[in-house]
Amino acid sequence: MKIKYLGTAAYEGFPGLFCECEACQKANAEGGKNIRLRASMTINEDTLIDFGPDIYMQKLRYNLNLANIRHFIMTHSHSDHFNPFDLMARSEGNYSHFQGENKGSKVNVYGNEKVKEFFDFAVKVEFGGHQDFMNYIEVVPFKTYEVGKLKVTPLLAQHQPDEKSLIYLIEEERRTLLYANDTGIFPEATYEYLQNVKLDVVSLDCTHGARYAGGSGHLGLETCVQTKERLLNMGSACEETTFIITHFSHNGGLCHEDLEKVAIPHGFVVAYDGMEMKI
Ligand SMILES: [Zn+2]
Ligand SMILES: [Zn+2]
Ligand SMILES: [Zn+2]
Repeated sequence: MKIKYLGTAAYEGFPGLFCECEACQKANAEGGKNIRLRASMTINEDTLIDFGPDIYMQKLRYNLNLANIRHFIMTHSHSDHFNPFDLMARSEGNYSHFQGENKGSKVNVYGNEKVKEFFDFAVKVEFGGHQDFMNYIEVVPFKTYEVGKLKVTPLLAQHQPDEKSLIYLIEEERRTLLYANDTGIFPEATYEYLQNVKLDVVSLDCTHGARYAGGSGHLGLETCVQTKERLLNMGSACEETTFIITHFSHNGGLCHEDLEKVAIPHGFVVAYDGMEMKI
């Protein structure tokens, strides 16, 4: 399984869209890994997790051929993760002209009930309520889906109380990724499901950096450490498991190198935009 982080920031981006705080000024001045777009990840050539407001910029920056994406997996409805209107540009004819195997292809969109509401709204606004190029699959937590060559299991996050926010367990050829943002401390039902799973890579929400412990709605470094320890103690992770932190907010106050200084001693890789990994 090949993964690539297209964005590693929280809602407002880092530097923040309108922000003048010290961390944003430093990120602006130093550039490089300090510039973070909104969270998204590709898996192999045909799968994308989250489709946020920076997807067009991400396509340009990484020379992505989004026509090859067949599976769009959504964590929740927040606008930094799901921008349904841009997804409508995938329609063939006026907005997109495809080549070869992509001609006439359909895509699957996976998400919860709230994401479906926003998806349906965009279909209504753009196409009067009818389209025939996307299947929406309303996923059920803890049920495993065949997504191309991947096995994908949505697990419950602890994030937005009025919707079933999801994190995803993704497997290919016995290699396993847990993609876990946005979330606070995992619900017990999620830990229960993970009891019999061996994780190769765990990617955790670390919105609060080292400034706040986090735990409710989002994690911070302190609660990321607790999550890591619990997964190790229950045997779902081991010494070989790679733990990555991502989805950073300027409110945590730390740019990339500062994050590395506090996170590497706890055994975390600090994600940055464009980071790739083979699992
Ligand atoms: Zn978010
Ligand atoms: Zn700021
Ligand atoms: Zn969110």
